[in-house]
Amino acid sequence: MTTIKLHNTRTRTKEDFVPISADNVRMYVCGPTVYDRAHLGNARPVVVFDVLYRLLRHTYGADHVTYVRNFTDVDDKINATALARQQAGAEGTLEQLVQERSKETIGWYLHDMGALGALEPNEMPRATQYIAQMIAMIEDLIAKGHAYAAEGHVLFAVDSWKEHYGELSGRSLDDMIAGARVEVAPYKKNPMDFVLWKPSTDELPGWDSPWGRGRPGWHIECSAMSYELLGESFDIHGGGNDLMFPHHENEIAQSKCAHPHGEFAKVWLHNEMLQVEGKKMSKSLGNFFTVHDLLEQGVPGEVIRFVFLQTHYRKPMDWTEKKAREAEATLRKWRALTSGIEPAASAAPAVIAALSDDLNTAGALAELHRLAADGDAVGLLASAQLLGLLTPVMGAWADTTSTDLSAHADRLADARVIAMQSKDFSEVDRLKAAYLAAGLEVRMSKDGVELVPGAGFDAAKLEGV
Ligand SMILES: [Zn+2]
Repeated sequence: MTTIKLHNTRTRTKEDFVPISADNVRMYVCGPTVYDRAHLGNARPVVVFDVLYRLLRHTYGADHVTYVRNFTDVDDKINATALARQQAGAEGTLEQLVQERSKETIGWYLHDMGALGALEPNEMPRATQYIAQMIAMIEDLIAKGHAYAAEGHVLFAVDSWKEHYGELSGRSLDDMIAGARVEVAPYKKNPMDFVLWKPSTDELPGWDSPWGRGRPGWHIECSAMSYELLGESFDIHGGGNDLMFPHHENEIAQSKCAHPHGEFAKVWLHNEMLQVEGKKMSKSLGNFFTVHDLLEQGVPGEVIRFVFLQTHYRKPMDWTEKKAREAEATLRKWRALTSGIEPAASAAPAVIAALSDDLNTAGALAELHRLAADGDAVGLLASAQLLGLLTPVMGAWADTTSTDLSAHADRLADARVIAMQSKDFSEVDRLKAAYLAAGLEVRMSKDGVELVPGAGFDAAKLEGV
């Protein structure tokens, strides 16, 4: 069995991955807050941890991996949208409108991530389904002296975990106080103390609790749900590096204090952020777009996935249109090469080795290029599928089998023969222009005519040529 090596944020080293139990390798990844469509940056951790999930399934067996990714459906932004809808005259209670909004957003999310070839995790818990477990965990933290109630709030007392708070991100408590935008509140014993529970007004979703009607803070949901679904010790915890502090630091504090005998997560993986054309994605720069936007523009999900995999997850990745065009051309070539064949029994060893080396997806893609250059179609197909590429469900965009390009090539060849005699090349020029406009590369030599689909090939444009 190949040894997987992963860079553990907690130890800051690349380590051999040794699961707690090879029978059930357990991974938790922080999922989205479901208030709107996922933007392209939100999709990066989804693809990164999907590759890891696939590698773990390949290594330990598909039935021996449990992947949990949550949906945060308690959030002020969801409430705000629901309230706006109610004020605009939408039917139903605020509670119902909040649920409606979450449900709709979860549907979009699963559709868009599915288009990127992401497998669905084994468990996708929603925060609202685990309120009782969160309340129980908060009560336990209070009983153990790690949390306190004040003015309808419950706060985690970071002083009770002072020696360890900040270990993951490598910050001291003093640095964090100096650098963080902490909310100063009179009921906090230490400005870094964070909310486990907060009161809800009548307008907001709320649940009855020992501290009055309220709702949980964000951090507690991951601690409560990972404990319920994976236990007090599990193998891998993942997320974007923007979550490292305070979210992950707070998850560790809560979980380790509530379950002092557990390890919580052994290995922490963090992906770097995504940029667009060299710039940070932001609404003010006008380069902010969702996965759905790209799909609507006709960029295939498989192309998006390919571009993502070109950059190692621990490096910032840059989304560019040029990369998308090149990826499309490569995938088209590979799909043509592997059309109608069965994949080899296993991915190429070099591809598995690259992925096992801290998810070196760029190295794995380089191996795929080599397999394609060698004409090893069965090896290419099996290896690409391990990366979630060239899968049957992802290929509709590149389906050229229904288009008989050879008939068009013959037509152009015949037109050329006639033109040679008549010296009238207008029909040749017309056909060439039409094929180019459809995204075909036209190769004419004395041996004949070849039409090759390029980036942006659209079979529909051949109708009526
Ligand atoms: Zn989380």
